Amino acid sequence: FSRLRKGLGRSSNRLGDQVSGLFTKKKLDASSLQDLEDILIEADLGVDTAMAITDRLSQQRYARGIDADELQEVLADEVEKVLAPLARPLEITGEAPFIVLVVGVNGTGKTTTIGKIAAQQAAAGKKVVLAAGDTFRAAAVEQLKIWGERSGCTVVAGAPKADAAGLVYEALDAAADADVLLIDTAGRLQNRAELMAELEKIVRVIKRRNPDAPHAVLLTLDATTGQNAMNQVDIFGKTVGVTGLVMTKLDGTARGGILVAIAAKHKLPIHFIGIGEGIDDLAPFQAEDFARAISG
Ligand code: GDP
Repeated sequence: FSRLRKGLGRSSNRLGDQVSGLFTKKKLDASSLQDLEDILIEADLGVDTAMAITDRLSQQRYARGIDADELQEVLADEVEKVLAPLARPLEITGEAPFIVLVVGVNGTGKTTTIGKIAAQQAAAGKKVVLAAGDTFRAAAVEQLKIWGERSGCTVVAGAPKADAAGLVYEALDAAADADVLLIDTAGRLQNRAELMAELEKIVRVIKRRNPDAPHAVLLTLDATTGQNAMNQVDIFGKTVGVTGLVMTKLDGTARGGILVAIAAKHKLPIHFIGIGEGIDDLAPFQAEDFARAISG
């Protein structure tokens, strides 16, 4: 929590300061409520949540004014209301191998997140196989191999520019007696049609082996990108049927507000947050902590 708070509170424009600044100067009236709504929308929380917060504040209880602490409490409370139903740990149980497809735009943290999940699972005694399905970028393959070494997991990688679905086919064989198979994928949005065709083909290859798989399709979102993250949920959601979210880089930004808007719109489970580049820097998503960090 302290790291999350430090991250979300790093910027000089942190939401809590802006909001309390607004109310130490003014009384709570229609114009200051409008200012507050603007700040909340500017912070990417989304119109619905922004309005819910200002509506609540305009109620009788606060008619005579409100202090900064009370205001932050209302803010945290409303944010938590949106997020709490979606805070769900990724449950890697049941059928083995449990097959997880990880998708997302390049640079959002797919490979790193896979490495971190692999380390957690390996530490829990699970046999984990990693598939270097981003065959397009040699650096991504190398990166995944390094994560495999760190976490002591097998990595299945192909020749440079190999067919990604073919590589996944090989990985399914290699993971036949494993507990978990984590599949990295390409994320070059510059050629969206080609990428989506590639992802669809990967899903087909998996389903041919096991119609119930992939058991999870995780979308990684970079918290520093604000509104882009919303578009990415739309794009990947339509093609591969995202089952849950991982929001990365929350250690380095005050811009986590978009997660609230995404949650309100898409109602997708939020499994993890990334709070650093290290192997231990992946935490289960906690709605209350997040709400307090973003509002405080
Ligand atoms: P990919 O292209 O989606 O596979 O993204 P990578 O996993 O290669 O990550 C891109 C960059 O973001 C790397 O430099 C990572 O170290 C960094 N990164 C990933 N997750 C986090 C995080 O939670 N916090 C921070 N600070 N950096 C991260």
